[in-house]
Amino acid sequence: MMTHKFRTHRSTWQSAVETLHASAPACRRGGAAVLATLLLAACSSTPLPPWPGQEAGARASAPQAGRPVPPPLDTGASTATSPSEGISTPVIVTPLPGSLAAPEASTSQLPYSAAVAARFPDPSVRYETPGLASGRQDFTTNAELTQWLRQLASSQKGVTRSQMLDLGLSQRGTPIHALVVTRVANTHAAALEDSGRPTVLLVGQQHGDEPAGSEALLVVARELAGGLLEPMLDRINVIVVPRANPDGAEAGKRVTANGIDMNRDHLLLQTPEARALARLVRDYRPIAVIDVHEYTVAGRFLEKFKAIQRYDMLLQHATTANLPEFMTKAALEWYRQPMLKALDAQGLTQEWYYTTSTQPEDMRLSMGGTQPDTGRNVNGLKNTVSMLLETRGIGIGRSHIQRRVHSHVTAVTSALRSTVDHAGKLEQVRSYGARDISAQACRGEVVVEAGPTPTQHDLLMLDPETGADRPLRVDWNSSLQLQTLKKRPRPCGYWLAGSNDRAVERLKLMGVQVMRVAEAGSALADTYHETSRASAERQDVRGTVAGAAPIIRVQVTPTRSAIDVPSGSYYVPLNQPLANLVVAALEPDTQNSYFANHLIPALSDTARVMTPPSLVFEEAD
Ligand SMILES: [Zn+2]
Repeated sequence: MMTHKFRTHRSTWQSAVETLHASAPACRRGGAAVLATLLLAACSSTPLPPWPGQEAGARASAPQAGRPVPPPLDTGASTATSPSEGISTPVIVTPLPGSLAAPEASTSQLPYSAAVAARFPDPSVRYETPGLASGRQDFTTNAELTQWLRQLASSQKGVTRSQMLDLGLSQRGTPIHALVVTRVANTHAAALEDSGRPTVLLVGQQHGDEPAGSEALLVVARELAGGLLEPMLDRINVIVVPRANPDGAEAGKRVTANGIDMNRDHLLLQTPEARALARLVRDYRPIAVIDVHEYTVAGRFLEKFKAIQRYDMLLQHATTANLPEFMTKAALEWYRQPMLKALDAQGLTQEWYYTTSTQPEDMRLSMGGTQPDTGRNVNGLKNTVSMLLETRGIGIGRSHIQRRVHSHVTAVTSALRSTVDHAGKLEQVRSYGARDISAQACRGEVVVEAGPTPTQHDLLMLDPETGADRPLRVDWNSSLQLQTLKKRPRPCGYWLAGSNDRAVERLKLMGVQVMRVAEAGSALADTYHETSRASAERQDVRGTVAGAAPIIRVQVTPTRSAIDVPSGSYYVPLNQPLANLVVAALEPDTQNSYFANHLIPALSDTARVMTPPSLVFEEAD
């Protein structure tokens, strides 16, 4: 703590906030590091640009001639594009003779007929990883995965660098690995940042019983490190985390070793697995995070609808309150649209991501949720293009595994190419978004809680006997239009009592700037007056969140007054790019808040600071 403590004059801090308010053309930089960052964030006078033009943006940033980016890893595409000099031929993507191969696995383990299985022929390429070897009963083990990455890191040649990162240990002590693949001279976060090339983060197997994504990311890692995808590294850097939940993978379970669903833990950060990813995102600041999963094919869908799920891939971008508009636009126009085309070109079908609750009588389908707890939504609040990709895989063992992997490889390759095509514009769009968010501090309103919009949707499922398409019109909770359930005036920042080290540590893990008050002062603030309290369970669109402790659901009335701000307490300013993530964590009356989840012990420990405070700060680390 406090390696180099310093103080700033209250006038300097105040001027930072005033700069923000006045939208003054000149942005002053403070001498102190903390203030410099804040001032930079407050330098918001630049108006938001028009949306970058498709033609200009896409073409201008296309890869240089002579280093073409290959199309998806299929035989048709491979023969259509002769690999340029220096690009090795694919080692692990083996074209199969004939047009469509018969599915490898026996269909006896499937919860449906051979007629359904016949709708999912293997692709015309064959992917090879340890877990995809012929005759294998299990998927790539944790030891094999480590070995695979280690080999990629040690066999590098030319200008491409592949470096393994140790992200920490799982609850059972298994290392969580990442592979950084780049053509930047060294693989440190700062070097990648300085390169001006955007970084893409690929995350696999947060849920241990969803293996196809992990196998696909091993393929992608290898093709990046010295194969078909390597030329993309002239424009982008890539970090691959093939398996975020090694304990779950080993046990064949969705959750981590202590029973927590780590993909509902990205705001609370209770698990070392979620913390590992948070640190990685904080340090490497990816422009895009692609999170690969699998979804249930029969199970509760078969019980409710007497039908089998049909789509090769379900996909969805971040959908939670207070997201930067331009990053959502980038997700839809620059990533989703090309991805749909890429999947279609491979004969793969897709829909919006949807799921259904574990309640047998509940016939509604819900798109991916709107709570700020999943990787998809939390990474969206970190101002990334955040995409969830799901193949049809849970409950069907190894069946159709080549097709599942092919779906992921196709979609992930498309996302990488989208980043290549828009490399120049993406950071610009993010930077404008971040400044816009910072500029909103103390102004207008902020959504505290939002939910999906009930509507109807037409879908196709499959008849479990005949395999025929079964059209259905379903009740559908759409996350594309959010309904505001609760909003409040947007504060300038939040005050936290000095005892809230745990909450502060979690905020900092996400990259949030937290300031420590050096001298006692006062602030005009809304404190939370409690009007009701109940014990409850955290819910997502499936039902109760796995492994979550009971939460405190309070109703509150914010009450304005001057409060004493003791030295040693904390101030979390909202004129920073992660302001909306702070709101998600610190407004106490939501199910994901740090108060509801016992990270902040008392309502009196926190307040919404409503005017720029005159406080003296020290650096908290
Ligand atoms: Zn999943």
